This record gives sequence, C-alpha cells and structure tokens, in this order.
Amino acid sequence: MASRARVVIIGAGIVGCALADELTTRGWSEVTVLEQGPLFAAGGSTSHAPGLVFQTNPSKTMTEFATYTVNKYSSLTLDGRPCFNQVGGLELAATPERWQDLHRRHGLAQSWGVPSELLTPEQCVELWPLIDPTRILGGFHTPTDGLAYALRAVEAQARRAMGRGARFLAHHRVTGVERSGGRVTGVWVATGEAADGGTGGLIPADIVVCAAGFWGPTLGELAGLTVPLLPLAHQYAKSGPIQALVGDCDEQTQAVRPILRHQDRDLYFRQHVDRVGLGSYAHRPMPVRQDEIDAKATVMPSIQAFTAEDFEPAWRDAVELMPALGESKFEEGINGIFSFTPDGFPLIGEAPHLSGFWLAEAVWVTHSAGVARAVAECLVDGQSSFDLHECELGRFEDVQLAPAYVEERGRRNFIEVYDVIHPLQPMESPRPMRTSPFYPRQRELDAYFLEGAGWERPHWYGANAAALEELERRADADRLIGAGLRDEWASRYWSPIAAAEATATRERVALYDMTPLKRVEVAGPGALGLLQQLTTNNVDKPVGAVTYTLLLDHAGGVRSDLTVARLGEERFQVGANGNLDLAWISRHARSWPDPVSVRDITAGTCCVGVWGPLARELVQPLTDIDLSNDGFRYFTAKSGYIQQVPVTAMRVSYVGELGWELYTTADLGLKLWDLLWRAGGPHGVVAAGRAAFNSLRLEKGYRLWGVDMTPEHNPYEAGLGFAVRKNKDFVGRDALEGVSAETVRRRLVPLLTESVVMGSEPVHAAGREGAAGYVTSAAHGHTIGRAIAYAWLPAELAEPGTRVEVEYLGRRVPAEVAAEPLFDPDMAKIKC
Ligand SMILES: Cc1cc2nc3c(=O)[nH]c(=O)nc-3n(C[C@H](O)[C@H](O)[C@H](O)COP(=O)(O)OP(=O)(O)OC[C@H]3O[C@@H](n4cnc5c(N)ncnc54)[C@H](O)[C@@H]3O)c2cc1C
Repeated sequence: MASRARVVIIGAGIVGCALADELTTRGWSEVTVLEQGPLFAAGGSTSHAPGLVFQTNPSKTMTEFATYTVNKYSSLTLDGRPCFNQVGGLELAATPERWQDLHRRHGLAQSWGVPSELLTPEQCVELWPLIDPTRILGGFHTPTDGLAYALRAVEAQARRAMGRGARFLAHHRVTGVERSGGRVTGVWVATGEAADGGTGGLIPADIVVCAAGFWGPTLGELAGLTVPLLPLAHQYAKSGPIQALVGDCDEQTQAVRPILRHQDRDLYFRQHVDRVGLGSYAHRPMPVRQDEIDAKATVMPSIQAFTAEDFEPAWRDAVELMPALGESKFEEGINGIFSFTPDGFPLIGEAPHLSGFWLAEAVWVTHSAGVARAVAECLVDGQSSFDLHECELGRFEDVQLAPAYVEERGRRNFIEVYDVIHPLQPMESPRPMRTSPFYPRQRELDAYFLEGAGWERPHWYGANAAALEELERRADADRLIGAGLRDEWASRYWSPIAAAEATATRERVALYDMTPLKRVEVAGPGALGLLQQLTTNNVDKPVGAVTYTLLLDHAGGVRSDLTVARLGEERFQVGANGNLDLAWISRHARSWPDPVSVRDITAGTCCVGVWGPLARELVQPLTDIDLSNDGFRYFTAKSGYIQQVPVTAMRVSYVGELGWELYTTADLGLKLWDLLWRAGGPHGVVAAGRAAFNSLRLEKGYRLWGVDMTPEHNPYEAGLGFAVRKNKDFVGRDALEGVSAETVRRRLVPLLTESVVMGSEPVHAAGREGAAGYVTSAAHGHTIGRAIAYAWLPAELAEPGTRVEVEYLGRRVPAEVAAEPLFDPDMAKIKC
C-alpha cells in the first residue's frame, strides 16, 4: 500500500536499515533515516557485531524473527558479496545438565521448525576440528544457522531502500522530538560531523521510529517515554593465526566452520579465516551510563577500551576446549556495548502517550530483519503477522520501569544469558517487590513463591505438608499425586503438596490468592460502547452479569481473554491478563467518542478465590448476600459484606468448582483473609497455590492466554468460539468472516500423556516428517489421575483417540488426544 506518511527512522544500525527496507518494499517511500554517525559503519553495536545467528529460542516468536532474518539475509548480496554465510550452528555440552538442555533445545527447534540434530563428540570434531572431544558430551547442530555479515546487510538493505526513494542522512543527530496534541510531528536535528548542534533544524514526520539501539533511553527521554534497557559492555576478541585453520577458507568466505557456543563456560566462537573470534559473557556485568556513551558519541561510541584482565579466564577456558588456540594469544579485543532489557525480549511498539512515536530497540542482529518486518507490518497494515505479545513495549508494569529495576534485571540477564534456565525459574532479585495483603499469612503458611509481573505468587504452601501425608495414606494416592510421572526436571519448582491442595479444592474448600491478576475499571457514559466494540461477546447485559469474552486484533487473533463484570449501568470491572490489555483498552478509549475512564485498580484492591464443594458452607455464615444457587447464579456478581468487609463477589471459577471470587480494597485484604480462614477451619480449608490451580484449570480445559493461545490463533482454533457473537460489531470480526470451528485447520486439544512434560515440546504423529505440533501447557491432573498436555495439532490429528508422541528431553512419550473437558463436562460441580 503506497503511503505519503512521512517516516523518520532514528539510527542506521541493522534495525534502522532493515526497517527502511521493509517499509519501502511495502510502498512507503517517504522514509528518512537519520544517523548521528557516518554511513554505514555508523558507530553503534552493529558496527562491530560478529554476527552469529543462532535461531533456536524458547520463544516461538524470537525463533521466527531469527528464521526470517536468516532467510532474508541469505538472499541478500552487496556488490556480489553475500550477506549471510550458512555455516550452521553448533552448541556444545560439557556437563550432563547442559547435555539434557541440548535435548530440550533440539525439541524446541523441532517445535518451531528449525532443522537440528544431536551429535556425538566425534561428530562435533568433524565440524570443528579444533575441539578437544574429551571435554564434551555432545553437541546440538543447526545446519541453517550461520553468520550474518552485519555491515553488508546494513548497506545492502539501505541501498535497496534508497532505490525506492528513502533518504539516509549521515551526521544528523536527533536532539529533540516535536509533538502536538499527543502526536509526534517531527524531530529536531543537529547536523555536521561534530553533531553538536551546529546547523540542523526540524524534520517534520508523521511517524518516528526509534531504532537507536542502546541510545534508546536518551531518545525516549526526548519523547517523554521510559525505555527500559540497560547498555552493557561485552567482550569480544580474536586469536592470532592458528595453523590448523590456514587454508580452511579465504578472506572472501571468512568462515566455513559452524558458529559455536560453549555455554558451560559462557563462551561463543566464530571463524575469521585462520583466526578464531571469541565472545565471553563470563566477565562481570559492565553497565554503561547514557551520559558516558553520549560523551564519546562521535568516535565509534559503542566500543570501550578492552579490559584484558576480564578476558583472561575466558581465554583459558577457550584454550581448554580448543588446545590449538594455545599456540596464539588473544588480540584485537573490544568491550562492545549492546542492550539488555529486564526480560531479555526486544522493545517493540508505539509510545502509550505519544501517537506516532515507535520503538524498535534492544534487538540482536539475529532478530533484526524479523523485528523490522514486524514493525513495518504494524505501521503499514496496522497489524503484525508475528505474535508480538512478549515484545510489546506496553508489557511492563510501572514498577518494572524503575531505573534500579532495569539495571538489576539487565545485569542478571547478562549473567544468565547462557545459563540453563528452567521454564518456571524466577529471577532471584529484586524480590520481593509486589505482595498481596495476604502476604503475611502466606509467609506464616510457609508459601513457596514464584514471581510474575513483579508479584510474589504462592505456588504451594509448606504448611500443607500434613495434608500431603494424609493423602499419601489413601489407596488412590499414587494416582492423585502422579507418582513416577515427573522426572527431576519436571519436579523442579514443584512439590507433591500441590496434589494435596488440588484434592482439598475438589473435596473440601481452598483459598486462592487472585490479587496479582490485572483488574481494570472501565467507567463512564462510553464504557459499554467501548467494551462492546473491543470484545467478542455481548457485554450489554443487566447489572450484575459477568461475561467471558475475548479481545481480538484486526486479523481476528486472540489478543486476550477477559471476564467483564457489569457492576453498574456505566461501570465495568474487567479481569484481564496484564498490562497489554490495559494499554490496548486505554488506547482505544482515548479516541472513543463518549467519555470513558480506564483505570488500573489492581494495586489498590485484592481478591481471594474461595473454591470447592464446601465454599458455600464456608462463606454463607459470614454474609447476608444470598449465596444459594438460585439467589446467586453462576457468572454473576453482587456487592455486599463479609462481616465488616465490603466486597464484590463474583460467582466464577477457574478451577471448576463451586465458589466465589471476593474482591475488596487492599487495606481490608488481611481482614477478609482472616475471616475466611477462621470460618474455613471446621471445613478443612487450605490455602492453595498456582501449582494446584494450573492442574485444576487444565482438567477443566480453561486456557491460559499467552501460553495456550496468542494473537497467532483465532478463537475457533483455540476452542473459544463460544465467546464470539458474530451478530454484533467488534474489532476483528471482519477477519472471522467464513471462519468457524468446522473450517479451522489447526486446533488446541488436550493430550493425555504418560509423563508430565513442561510445555513447548514437539508433538510427533506417525507418518509425518518433523513435528506435527507443539505443547502449550502441561501438568498432572490430580483429580483425573493422568498427566495432561495441551497441544496445537493439525485439525486432522485433533480427533479424540488419535495417538501421538511428545518428545520430552529426547524421549518419546506416548500420548493420546482426549475429548475436553477432562473433568466434570456437565458442569455439575460448578452449577450447584
Ligand atoms: C561485542 C558484541 C558482539 C555481539 N555479537 C552479536 C552476535 O554475534 N549476534 C547477534 O545477533 N548480535 C550480536 N550483538 C548484538 C548486536 O550487535 C546488536 O544488538 C545490534 O547490532 C543492534 O542493532 P541496532 O540497529 O538496534 O543498534 P545500533 O547498531 O547500535 O544502531 C543504532 C544507531 O543509532 C544511532 N543513533 C543513536 N542515537 C542517535 C541520535 N540521537 N540521532 C541519530 N542517530 C542516533 C547510532 O549512531 C547507531 O548507529 C553483539 C554486540 C556486541 C557489542
């Protein structure tokens, strides 16, 4: 689609240039790229990136960004010279734990469609003859990985963009962001080699994309936007000539050996003709302050003086792996700067309070083309074909934007960049940050906490060990606990106590802290209209109704799932998945014709879920609210009091049991908990954590957005067609025209498996090459006594009874597609 939109891109690193290419290829030719340095070795991180592209990542989206980058740069040349060298990738294991992790990575590669194989030490040596095979247990080989020649890719993409009308202006430093009425209108520049504000002026723009790499926070400040990234220096050096590599390849080819990772020593390697380049993450984190960078902004500012003493241990480890390196010394070392974010994902998206100002920051060369394409799609089509939820700028809570937080998390991410990270492993610090009002009681009950969105979240309670002992005395104990179904990996961050908590929920009653779930109040004359327009279900119901509904994007992908409670004619409480929902609703509210306020009420309120067959017996004596089945119907809400505590009660349940979510203000949370706890004593109440919750929700087939379904999936694929009312207008409806449960080509289905798996594993089906699908969430179903794994499969394999296999850490686990829900299909337990 041709457009006259004037786009300014700040930064001619690999991201800025890839974006100029992606935009102009889509017909947007009014593109100006402003670069403070020269073109094209401009002085940012790209100028000295060794360009290793390993595609496999626990995140599907990050892998897809990388695969797109590989494919694009493989077809790109600069003056006849290639921009990508597909030498393959090789990751080594020197410890049993790493070797297991490489099996996991082999699984991830299959799930996301990256060709891969596991190799013996001898096979690794065939690919990289310098390796001492006695030092390793094996390798993970990915033949389509390779080396991006970053500066060539920069120039090749810039030239293509210029050929389509884009302008690239060297020595143009952006010094200000002009705005009017909440929109960006241009940028101020200082020009000249000194870029010191000599000449220059205002460059008008309709859209500004900040692709300034680790300068992002400085540019963000100009736009009134916090950019949560930490610039850190990282060491890279080259060996001298190595005899065994002489004649391996010429200057033109540069490398024939795979890019290499020795993660047990925080090292990576690439070939530079007859030398070996090696990068290390083993050294102390070296954060660089923005003003320290700016001070040197005209002389390759991304390089700091090499600190050889930090590199010595890395070099010793490298020589241990490749003894031939010992014949040389390390040379040409740099401490090069690049960006780390609190969660390791890039920063993509439009500034919440400045329309037209976009970020494409904290992006590796590996993901550069993919991210650029995603941003171009957002600008041109209003929508990316990638699932961006992990990368969207709006994902952070306010507390996660604090500079101290960004710094601490950035440092940790640097230290852990090559660690074996368990999917449930939380960051260790800074913690605790956000705690619910029930926290003191949770501590008393010996809760084991994991962290999410800054919140401390109990996963189980040590105090329930006695309940577990009781469970273990039952005849059906093994079934309930899932004895023998978890290996050591699946047993981490888990306790069999979860079985006792799940069983107590099914048989008696349990209290769940639901405080960390995002709550948004949408109120005012425009509230109903806005929510009707944004969500798929009908929320125009009488006051007191609660509706399960979806937010879709314009392509019909599931952006979120919500519960919308109508608490007044013009007041709704929305149970959401996170900050992205708040950002999405707020953004639409700003342009909504009728007045509407959107308020995050999470921190000022709290919620306890009281669930189980005895929930009514527990709560009724504490309240005048009629909790009878007729007096308080399923999926309705009422206000009232639990003794002295004013509450909003909602009869909803994500564990598939009778019960209520009770909301009150944060100041009264502890009182509410204590009242419920005391009243629950005679009923055998327990406090229960997320581990039990996850098992119970999977038994009921309740999806977890962001894990089970994402914007990649439409509601019918995800089994959520029941929440779509096509007879009303809503965002994404047009894209669902002609789509139904019958037409979809893939489905989210439950598998019953013979071991507990973790998620993201490939699913294999007989007669199919490569993975047929992949697992989303998994747990032991304590009530049904079977391990459950939800998985995406082609529709033809989604029939109950179909036999498949889940590849878990290199082992094929038999599995069978089951009909859902696996527990209480008649809803007899909830609606009673
Ligand atoms: C030693 C080292 C090794 C690395 N190895 C790899 C690797 O093997 N694989 C990999 O994928 N990644 C690697 N990386 C990371 C990778 O280099 C970066 O993530 C990537 O190059 C960032 O690209 P960018 O375009 O976002 O930023 P940059 O390349 O930094 O470009 C940003 C540009 O913005 C310009 N700019 C800033 N402020 C302004 C302003 N006010 N006005 C105008 N222009 C401005 C800068 O001059 C700069 O040219 C490595 C990084 C380092 C330091």
